[in-house]
Amino acid sequence: MPRPIRATIHTQALRHNLQVVQSAVPDARVWAVVKANAYGHGIERVFEGLRGADGFALLDLQEAQRLRTLGWRGPILLLEGAFELRDLELCSRLDLWHTVHSEAQIDMLAAHKTNVPHRVFLKMNVGMNRLGFRPEQYRSAWTRLNALPQVDEISLMAHFSDADGPVGVAVQMETFLAASAELPGERSLHNSAAVLRHGQLPGDWVRAGIALYGSSPDHPEHTGAHWQLQPTLSLNADIIGTQDLKAGDTVGYGSTFVAQAAMRIGIVACGYADGYPRICPTGTPVLVAGTRSQTLGRVSMDMLAVDLTPTPEAGIGDEVTLWGRAKTGAVLPIDEVAACAQTVGYELMCALAQRVPVTVEP
Ligand SMILES: *Cc1c(COP(=O)(O)O)cnc(C)c1O
Repeated sequence: MPRPIRATIHTQALRHNLQVVQSAVPDARVWAVVKANAYGHGIERVFEGLRGADGFALLDLQEAQRLRTLGWRGPILLLEGAFELRDLELCSRLDLWHTVHSEAQIDMLAAHKTNVPHRVFLKMNVGMNRLGFRPEQYRSAWTRLNALPQVDEISLMAHFSDADGPVGVAVQMETFLAASAELPGERSLHNSAAVLRHGQLPGDWVRAGIALYGSSPDHPEHTGAHWQLQPTLSLNADIIGTQDLKAGDTVGYGSTFVAQAAMRIGIVACGYADGYPRICPTGTPVLVAGTRSQTLGRVSMDMLAVDLTPTPEAGIGDEVTLWGRAKTGAVLPIDEVAACAQTVGYELMCALAQRVPVTVEP
């Protein structure tokens, strides 16, 4: 028998979350962002749930190829554009739209031999200072791009640094609008946080990632439930052992947890080699047979310990939910576990280990 641990992808929840995004921006088209292998879910596994999107956005050419292999004929956008000249051949062949964020990429386009001009998204750096042309360079980049026979329609794009927090997007939005005024073309500005918190702002295409996967982009200010999002990735494992502790007994490496009184604990077939963060301290929430409890002591490579005090009948073979949905229907938001690990839901999803078997639920 394989180790009793499993991840489950909830197709209906993906569909539901996509609808949440669509209804937040009813006039915009939605890119489903599926970079990093669909935030760890697997592109092939989320395709059915997200095929109602208007396009898919990602950055790896091989992932774009996989989408074409799945039969997707609609738009695909490369969020970082081409890395070398050869990439543009694949863009031509697979009909990929791509970001242009640097002079080097304009040079590549000028050197690219193609009969089919490309649809490009010209990126403005409005303050994140990662990729893009500064506002004062934007217009000349557009003019240079527009003169190339290799280029078809140019869309205008920016990425907000603070859509999820108190700083907001007003200043960066103003920068974008001022520097792109009178330029023709569709606009794409919003990530998930901007869609949910600032969806009334202008934009023809939104780029939604984390919200589609049921994690709140602005946790802990708002939970996924607040935004009506449903978990799309559950991680469950079984109890494979139990221990009856006496007062003073300790649990796990380093003996970091000390029982204050007699108690029962369960040993669960999930550890950091499965993608569960080792940094999660005693007290990180779990569900035992759907009932809320907590981890105890250090997470080891293949196992962790949970408190069975709230579920005295629980024993070997019972299900422990590390995040997502339990058999009972109870939900433990991935964002709560991420907060205990001092990170965000994104990182936990992306870190799900290869060795964990994944099933796709309709
Ligand atoms: C990843 C990414 C997104 C999606 O961000 P979420 O916070 O997951 O919605 C949008 N735009 C760009 C450029 C990205 O790289």
